[in-house]
Amino acid sequence: MAVEHREVIIVGAGPAGTTCAQRLAEDGIDVLILERREIIGNPAQCGECIPNWGEVIGTFSGLEDHQWLKDSFDFPDRIQLHRLDHMRVFLPSGKAYHFDLDAFAGHRLQFDGYLAEKAVSAGAEIRMSEPVQNIKRRSKSNSLLIVTENSRYTCDLLIDGSGSLAHVSRFLHGKDKEYRPDDQVPTAYAQVRGKVPETFDVFLGSVAPKGYAWIIPKGPDTANVGLGVRAGALKGSIKEHLKKFCDDLNLEILSYGGGWIPMGGPVKTMVDQNVIAIGDAAGLVMPSNGGGISQAMISGCFAAEAYLEFKQHQTPLTSYQDRVEACFGRALKNSLRSKNMGYLMFQNDLITEVLLRVLGPIGGIKRAMECDKPLWVL
Ligand SMILES: Cc1cc2nc3c(=O)[nH]c(=O)nc-3n(C[C@H](O)[C@H](O)[C@H](O)COP(=O)(O)OP(=O)(O)OC[C@H]3O[C@@H](n4cnc5c(N)ncnc54)[C@H](O)[C@@H]3O)c2cc1C
Repeated sequence: MAVEHREVIIVGAGPAGTTCAQRLAEDGIDVLILERREIIGNPAQCGECIPNWGEVIGTFSGLEDHQWLKDSFDFPDRIQLHRLDHMRVFLPSGKAYHFDLDAFAGHRLQFDGYLAEKAVSAGAEIRMSEPVQNIKRRSKSNSLLIVTENSRYTCDLLIDGSGSLAHVSRFLHGKDKEYRPDDQVPTAYAQVRGKVPETFDVFLGSVAPKGYAWIIPKGPDTANVGLGVRAGALKGSIKEHLKKFCDDLNLEILSYGGGWIPMGGPVKTMVDQNVIAIGDAAGLVMPSNGGGISQAMISGCFAAEAYLEFKQHQTPLTSYQDRVEACFGRALKNSLRSKNMGYLMFQNDLITEVLLRVLGPIGGIKRAMECDKPLWVL
């Protein structure tokens, strides 16, 4: 079988992969995305809360002057279904703490499609229904051979944008935690119809042991409702628990979805010779709130810029990881600490309630949600 050579190959057309492709293609780089799905963004694996630029620069460091990213977060009205400027976090008793938010709810199908269109307009190519089935590093030439059902590819740079299960790293390094994200949290969500809140609501306690349940309104009578729990913490099926949660709230379930969120923090090695991990594949999700869309887009851009720097000035590709750590490091570290404290604290509803009643009024819950340093390590 003939082998096709491309300068850059990206595995996965999620927000990380398409943002990376757009940034590279705008600078004239030949870039091909291999995507296993038939339709970009479908099925959605998300709560569909998408942060605005204000939320992004409030959480991460050193992005204020990055005009390309600022423009990328200027989303058109057509994909913004419902403004999310308020969040409520409910304790098991029903008591709530309120916070401001700068985000919106969208359909991931539309959102991912919008990002992909921008990449293609910039000159990137996307091949759909093209799952990568194996990757080998050939020992003599040290080059990569990428195998799909129908084709074989080689490339100068390979980007792993394949999401939480990090398939590129899996093919190259098996289960090695140095390269693959850890603490995969199972989630289930439903698109629902009924009387939904105006606000992004989060519920803590036995409804979602060592995790949380969410309601993210997408319109006046529709919402994305979901549960994320620590693996093994829930007895029975997560989908059944979600159904009960929706039934109790009298919400009609229109469809189900689910996926894995890597909650173990960033992988140790994001750059492995000419392979770079971005987005969820690099473990860049916020462990305390499960948000990963903005980090996916930003890391995709950073990976592209690291390659451009490498081509122009021979700057080592490892500059990508330095930049990721400088930008996300503080927030990810704080968020990981909060999640680990949550795993310890959330033993049952009574303990959860008592501890959060103490931490809530002094800003402890807000800090966990916003990925600030937890109060207990001040
Ligand atoms: C239930 C749930 C709720 C979430 N809610 C939110 C939220 O509300 N807000 C938020 O910011 N984040 C949320 N997240 C996290 C967010 O979805 C991810 O952080 C984000 O999608 C990561 O983008 P990505 O491009 O890295 O990966 P993905 O979006 O996962 O994209 C990976 C792509 O790679 C493709 N792929 C995988 N393997 C292969 C292969 N072998 N060959 C070819 N293609 C492949 C996949 O089909 C997919 O298109 C949620 C996650 C889950 C699971």
